[in-house]
Amino acid sequence: MQVERLGSTPPCTRCGQAVLIATTLPAGRDNVTVELCATCDAGNPTAAPLIALLGETHRPVEQMSSLINTWLRAELTEQGLVRVPQQRSGRDGHQ
Ligand SMILES: [Zn+2]
Repeated sequence: MQVERLGSTPPCTRCGQAVLIATTLPAGRDNVTVELCATCDAGNPTAAPLIALLGETHRPVEQMSSLINTWLRAELTEQGLVRVPQQRSGRDGHQ
């Protein structure tokens, strides 16, 4: 799975502003583009921590990759592209 932070990001399909992250993934016969928008996704509980981290100057790579994973999985699940695994309790991002 490839996630790119593009030099010039495409406009958000929802609000038209530049997105923070856009990635295109193969999904059956079509590709699906997943985008992270600071405005539209601000209220999204899986996207908000990632948006906050992208606003920081210091971005620990492990934290970044973990947040990207969480966000991407939620996005793909929402679009019906992955099956939701049974929820496990006890390993949920709080430190
Ligand atoms: Zn937007």
